[in-house]
Amino acid sequence: MTAILGGGISGLSAAYYCLENSKIGSVALYESSKHLGGWIKSITTPSGVIFEKGPRTIRLGNKAAQNTLMLIEKLNLNSKIIPIKWNHPAYSNRLIYANETLHVLPNNVTNLFKIQEPFNRRLISIAWNEVRVPKEINEDESIYSFTERRLGKDVADFLISPLISGICAGNAKEISVKFLMKNGFEYEQKYGSITKGIVLNLMRHLLSNFKTNSHKEKELTTDLINRAKVEKWFAWGLHGGLEQLPIALKNNLNSNSNIKIYKNTPCEQLTFKPGVAELLTNGKVEKYCKVISSISAKSLAPLLEKQHPQLAQEIKTIPFVTVAVVNLRYSENILPLEAFGLLVPPNENLPILGIVFDSSIFKKDSSTVLTVMMGGVWFDKYFGDNPTNEHFLSTAVNQTKSILNMKKDPVEYDVTVLKDCIPQYVVGHYQKVQRIQNYISAHKIPLALCGSSFDGIGLNDVILSAKKAVSHIA
Ligand SMILES: Cc1cc2nc3c(=O)[nH]c(=O)nc-3n(C[C@H](O)[C@H](O)[C@H](O)COP(=O)(O)OP(=O)(O)OC[C@H]3O[C@@H](n4cnc5c(N)ncnc54)[C@H](O)[C@@H]3O)c2cc1C
Repeated sequence: MTAILGGGISGLSAAYYCLENSKIGSVALYESSKHLGGWIKSITTPSGVIFEKGPRTIRLGNKAAQNTLMLIEKLNLNSKIIPIKWNHPAYSNRLIYANETLHVLPNNVTNLFKIQEPFNRRLISIAWNEVRVPKEINEDESIYSFTERRLGKDVADFLISPLISGICAGNAKEISVKFLMKNGFEYEQKYGSITKGIVLNLMRHLLSNFKTNSHKEKELTTDLINRAKVEKWFAWGLHGGLEQLPIALKNNLNSNSNIKIYKNTPCEQLTFKPGVAELLTNGKVEKYCKVISSISAKSLAPLLEKQHPQLAQEIKTIPFVTVAVVNLRYSENILPLEAFGLLVPPNENLPILGIVFDSSIFKKDSSTVLTVMMGGVWFDKYFGDNPTNEHFLSTAVNQTKSILNMKKDPVEYDVTVLKDCIPQYVVGHYQKVQRIQNYISAHKIPLALCGSSFDGIGLNDVILSAKKAVSHIA
């Protein structure tokens, strides 16, 4: 029997993939809270709009994304999908708020030949200059230092820094370059320049299209994946909110007698003996053959501390940040432009990370729904030890008024503080994860890891990590 720790999206997906795998028998899933779905939470307000407390869209573009679409098809969720296509303003319009002005980030090839504020040079010149920047040999470095060195301070300040605070609420000066620019980093190490690497790979790709397809990597194909390709989706959401995904997974699992789900049941300690994994829950020891952990590194480390202090120490050093999420609804359209939202570069020293324009992404009526994200790595700097929900609300409302240059107040709102919700893949993260995996295999511990702490923080990444963890233990 296999135990799964955590009932977030990765734990539920791991349970789903276990039940699909004939090599794995029955499964027990332990969730410490009463809620399944982890950070995915969609609430419907009295007026009927959805406030997302966590994720709201899922990106397309790689194998992990295709894997999620396959899961959606298997769960019969196709009809609930809301595609966001390439010609949607949420795709083309991404804003940053710099120097007290909203700027649309360059969004097509012609923009590369113009000078577009807040940049003070043509973006095409960045690629041209980059070829001549000398190569530095590094095992890892911060994404800020890499971009500043190769592409310039303006790109690091106005593009990469807000992007990193938007994706992981982190500081680009601390986050590993491999988190977002792994290919660019490898191109420098291999070819001496990002631009050269892109051009060479493009040529290789074009040449391979003239040759036989025999060496091409096999693409996943299903009706939904094909539809997404043909219609050029760049992301998607779900009618009723993204929580429909964990709900569908939960319903699917509940219809299978090979799984038991224990809510309000935290795992308190893990001990591994030859052939047995002992799990301490509610003061009782339960025995399993194997364990899949989908809980965060922060929650996992104390469970391993007693038997494997060295492993626990390594896992414990993965940092996390807290984010305050304020959802706002206005009765009319208050947006200057339909867009995905806006990001605030950290050097603007404002107490918000950015604002998502939910009602632009998922247009419903003429009202405006926004989500203001605050805190992250700067939580203590702006909010100290004991901020109140009123303080978050007034900060969100006032910043929204000032940035969008309007005076309206929201007619509905909701404030949530998500404690330690996003892991930070700081410089050295990927080597650390390798050491953790090496320790587990060297000590033959029947434990597989998945979830957002290790191999990617997006929903596609964590669902794929669950699939990999299952095939690993199988
Ligand atoms: C504000 C925010 C916005 C985001 N937006 C997006 C987005 O738009 N698109 C996207 O792709 N991704 C987004 N993400 C990332 C995505 O939501 C997460 O990567 C994903 O939800 C993580 O799922 P998980 O199952 O790995 O972890 P979690 O959701 O953290 O689930 C872990 C579960 O384990 C339980 N647990 C903890 N300790 C124990 C224990 N000892 N015993 C038993 N159970 C335990 C917890 O209660 C929890 O339910 C966002 C994240 C946040 C926080």
